[in-house]
Amino acid sequence: MGILEVKGVNKRFGGLQALGDVNLSIKENTVHAIIGPNGAGKSTLLNCLVGKLIPDSGSVMFDGQSVLGRKPHEINQMGISRVFQTPEIFTDLSVIENVMIPCFAKRDGAFRLHAVEAVASEKDIVEQAEQMLADVNMLDKRNMHAGSMSRGDKRRLEMAMCLVQNPKLLLLDEPTAGMARADTNNTIDLLKEIKEKRDITMAIIEHDMHVVFSLAERITVLAQGTPLVEETPENIKGHPKVREAYLGE
Ligand code: ADP
Ligand code: MG
Repeated sequence: MGILEVKGVNKRFGGLQALGDVNLSIKENTVHAIIGPNGAGKSTLLNCLVGKLIPDSGSVMFDGQSVLGRKPHEINQMGISRVFQTPEIFTDLSVIENVMIPCFAKRDGAFRLHAVEAVASEKDIVEQAEQMLADVNMLDKRNMHAGSMSRGDKRRLEMAMCLVQNPKLLLLDEPTAGMARADTNNTIDLLKEIKEKRDITMAIIEHDMHVVFSLAERITVLAQGTPLVEETPENIKGHPKVREAYLGE
C-alpha cells in the first residue's frame, strides 16, 4: 500500500471530464512524477488531493485515512503540503518571518487541539525557522526582504515554508515553470538535498523532462484525464503510449 492511494477518481467540469477513473498509488519515501500534455488533468488531480476540489466519485486515501470531505487546512495538518506554480510568499516580510508564519499557524492549530506539549515559545519558533533556513542554505538571507529576491530564492523560501511543517507528502505543481536553467538546476539540487535529509514523499508535476529524469523514481503519464502508463524513468523514454499522448497534443 502506498502512502497515497487514489482509486477511481472522476471529476467533471460541466460537460468536460477532467479526470476519468484515475488510479494512482505513490509509495512512501519516493519521488513520483506526473507528466502529460496541457489540459491532461494534472492540476485538477492535485487539487483533489489537497481538498481544493472534491471529486465526483472515487477515493483518496492518505496514510490510511480518507482526505475526502476534509478542508484544505485539515489535509495540510494530516501531512500534505503543496508548492504552487508561482511562489506564494509574503513579499513584504523578511525571509525568517516568512518561515515563522507556518510555525505559528501549526502551533496555534495544535493548541486548539489541546496538544499542549506541541506548544512552542516564540524563541523555539525562531530557532526552528533558522534551522529550516540552514537546511535550505538560506540562513545568510535571514533578514532579506522576501519580495526582492530572485525567483529561484523565492522558490527556495516557499519550499522552506512547506518543509518547516514537516509534511509527509510534498506536492509540487510545475516547480520550475518559467525558471532560467540555472534556477531550475538549483531547484533540482534543492529537492535532492531535501530528499536525502528527511523521510519525505514527493509528487511532482513537471513539463521539463530534465527535471523529471533527474528526480523521479516512478512516472505516471496522464492524458485526457486518465493514467496511460506508470513506469520507471528508463522505461518511459520512447514508450509508444507516451509518444502517442504527446503527439496527440
Ligand atoms: P493540466 O494541469 O494537466 O494542464 P488541468 O487539470 O489544469 O490540466 O485541466 C484539465 C482540464 O480541465 C482542462 O481542459 C481545463 O481547461 C479544465 N479545467 C480545469 N479547471 C477547471 C475549472 N475550474 N472549471 C472548468 N474547467 C476546468
Ligand atoms: Mg496544470
